[in-house]
Amino acid sequence: MNKRENRRNSRRLYPVIMITLVIVIAVLAVILILTRRSETEEVSVYGIGNVDQYRPQMSVELLTPNPYSRPQTATDKITGIVIHYVANPGSTAEQNRSYFEGLKDSHETYASSHFIVGLEGEIIQCVPTSEVAYASNDRNHDTVSIEVCHPDETGKFNDATYDSLVELTGWLCEYLEVPVDNVIRHYDVTGKLCPLYFVEHEDAWEQFKDDVTHWISKHQ
Ligand SMILES: [Zn+2]
Repeated sequence: MNKRENRRNSRRLYPVIMITLVIVIAVLAVILILTRRSETEEVSVYGIGNVDQYRPQMSVELLTPNPYSRPQTATDKITGIVIHYVANPGSTAEQNRSYFEGLKDSHETYASSHFIVGLEGEIIQCVPTSEVAYASNDRNHDTVSIEVCHPDETGKFNDATYDSLVELTGWLCEYLEVPVDNVIRHYDVTGKLCPLYFVEHEDAWEQFKDDVTHWISKHQ
């Protein structure tokens, strides 16, 4: 083979190499896209299978429909969960529910919450998650609210209350397909010092979200 033939051969080979390269890149791109898509699908069906099985024990005591605490307005798609504290030291979940229920007669203010977690860890549901509750101001239409009882002025939750709150929040994240990053404090909506202890102790708030993440990873 002389030099000229060599050059001719390499010129003939050039398009073959280019085409092969293009095919390899295309195949790699397809593999990448397919892998990505299966990851997304996994995230979107995350947890669904066991949602009913892990529903926390709760007492469903829906408020009487009324304009002050249960207007029966349909929510938009729920995108977040808002944590509150009742700001009434030592009061029970049942007492806080009664307060919301009483607004239908007292007309004192507009207030309610989807759930209340009590001092013994008991959970009362007051409003269906498909209906607006009056708890989180501008976010009432697309969030679910949890009011939490506390023994004293510091607003710190006792262990029984805290454990139930972690369980309820984790379960709601799964049930409503809300990522833990979208679990927020009332403070994050309006700047109100609510829930007080989680506003004054950022580390406790971060720990709470870690505990919720951990609960979810154990119950998928
Ligand atoms: Zn609040």
